[in-house]
Amino acid sequence: MMSNVQNFIEKAIAGRWISGSTIQDAITDSKEFNSKGIKTIINYLGESFTNDYEIAEAVDTYMRLIRYIAENGINADISVKPTQLGLLKDADTLKSNYSKIVAEARKAKIFVWLDMEEADYVDATIQLYLSELDGAGVGICMQSYLKRSEDDIRKILQKGSVIRLVKGAYSSTKNKSFNTREAVTSNYSKLMGMLFSQGAGFTLGTHDINMIKEAQALNKEYRRDVTYAMLKGINNKYLLDLSKSGNKVAVYLPFGKRWLAYSYRRLKEAGHIKLILKSLMKSQKLE
Ligand SMILES: Cc1cc2nc3c(=O)[nH]c(=O)nc-3n(C[C@H](O)[C@H](O)[C@H](O)COP(=O)(O)OP(=O)(O)OC[C@H]3O[C@@H](n4cnc5c(N)ncnc54)[C@H](O)[C@@H]3O)c2cc1C
Repeated sequence: MMSNVQNFIEKAIAGRWISGSTIQDAITDSKEFNSKGIKTIINYLGESFTNDYEIAEAVDTYMRLIRYIAENGINADISVKPTQLGLLKDADTLKSNYSKIVAEARKAKIFVWLDMEEADYVDATIQLYLSELDGAGVGICMQSYLKRSEDDIRKILQKGSVIRLVKGAYSSTKNKSFNTREAVTSNYSKLMGMLFSQGAGFTLGTHDINMIKEAQALNKEYRRDVTYAMLKGINNKYLLDLSKSGNKVAVYLPFGKRWLAYSYRRLKEAGHIKLILKSLMKSQKLE
């Protein structure tokens, strides 16, 4: 009975943003997106783990996910959260888990992204990323809501980093962040300019059509290897149009049972109740 209620709530609230609870759900969903020319970036839901069992289970799931992606010939990257691999436990656990996943993914030629979480974890996340940057196939997310990101991006671009630029989904911190939507967007535009002028290939993770149009105008001049990425369930029709007009596109696809924190961030971003209802009711079929 309880699990029926849980399944209902899961489908009603989180269903539009996540593939389902299992790896197979993510693979099936990926096949559907791939058939429309859209790559997927698969994330196993879960964060802020301090318990050894949860951390080990997350690592094991990513190892299996890599094998499933390879065996099914899916066009997918994976994206891992540092706090699900042990960031809140200790640096050795975190490093060894990340390296293990990256090594397995490299064998299968699957690209591994590091999600960026709260502001307090940025240093540890960048350090972790740089520890594997000597090899190929790794990227890191950077957030325009943080004032420090300009410096961080400048430094890590010099080392050949692959960046996924987003606005940031975590709470602002008074001194460390830009605190209005306009300021965050204006910094996104600035950082995007840096990526075009100094980066070779990068991903722009945004649903902000103005930013996407600005990027396309910039790319007429710079001709960079740009991928436009959106979250599953948010304006994916626009992504499909971008794909049809010859752009590289990807959708971020979470799966797993721990959908609450992720869904809460999406609801918060939707801003107000009318937008939430509209986005819940709007068909997301990619016809
Ligand atoms: C591929 C990808 C990877 C990401 N990875 C990370 C990460 O690692 N770390 C991190 O902090 N954040 C990550 N994010 C989330 C990101 O930081 C933003 O929180 C989110 O993308 C909303 O910002 P926006 O750029 O779309 O701009 P906004 O200004 O927030 O939104 C632009 C427009 O998009 C629409 N929109 C945005 N969100 C919603 C919603 N939930 N429901 C309905 N409409 C909406 C609205 O029309 C809005 O006006 C990722 C986002 C993407 C697309």
